[in-house]
Amino acid sequence: MARVLVGVKRVIDYAVKVRVKPEKNGVVTQGVKHSMNPFDEIAVEEAVKLKEKKLAGEIIAVSVGPAQSQEVIRTALAMGADRGVHVEVSAAEYDLLQPVHVSKILAKLALDEKADLVILGKQAIDDDANQTAQMTAAVLDWPQGTFCNKVEKTDAGLTIVREIDGGLETIKTKIPAVLSADLRLNTPRYATLPNIMKAKKKPLKKVTPKDLGVDTSPRIEIISVEDPPVRQAGAAVADVDALVAKLKAGGHI
Ligand code: AMP
Repeated sequence: MARVLVGVKRVIDYAVKVRVKPEKNGVVTQGVKHSMNPFDEIAVEEAVKLKEKKLAGEIIAVSVGPAQSQEVIRTALAMGADRGVHVEVSAAEYDLLQPVHVSKILAKLALDEKADLVILGKQAIDDDANQTAQMTAAVLDWPQGTFCNKVEKTDAGLTIVREIDGGLETIKTKIPAVLSADLRLNTPRYATLPNIMKAKKKPLKKVTPKDLGVDTSPRIEIISVEDPPVRQAGAAVADVDALVAKLKAGGHI
């Protein structure tokens, strides 16, 4: 039965209004509510569903990040993952960690743990990179099924329905493979209190990128981070002629 590695990233909660730091070199993270990246909840749910259907054996939840990343691993364990791996980096390193670093880490763990499937979210809502699954597949030289809308296990491997522009694409792949979860793949379950309590006792291993032989030196430097432009106030116009005149005056038509 397949062993599944799931990537769970700790990000600023989707409901928080993100603020840029006064130094304009990043966003304020201190004292801000964080949660598991929403697409990663979908990835965990898919792994747990495979396990419930007896198509997957063990589920390993991995998070690369500072000490607090263990919180999202515990959430994954409460949702049904069996054990966790925390790849610890400092908060300062985390600010500059890129998908290429995470991909190399996940690829190494996938081989070390003898995983048959790696399931990630399609995108982290903080960096919006949408790169990690694709690069992990490239590092491993495994097939990839990105933007999954449906995943079915067959004798030969997997049949995957992918969300593409304006429709759905169905593909077949062998395993091992790397998948990325899109929004409509499933509805993630809530972690119940008894399962949250049980999750505290599940094994959680801590390693560093160095232990895995992955160099996380930054490849980019952040020059500046800006707030989006503030929307200007609207104005009421008396009639259509006045609207057209205003649009012409503003050079819009
Ligand atoms: P991205 O390529 O940054 O948009 O992230 C896509 C997916 O890769 C996320 O939804 C996660 O499943 C996984 N991922 C990215 N960064 C991390 C991380 N630091 N720890 C664990 N998983 C991650």
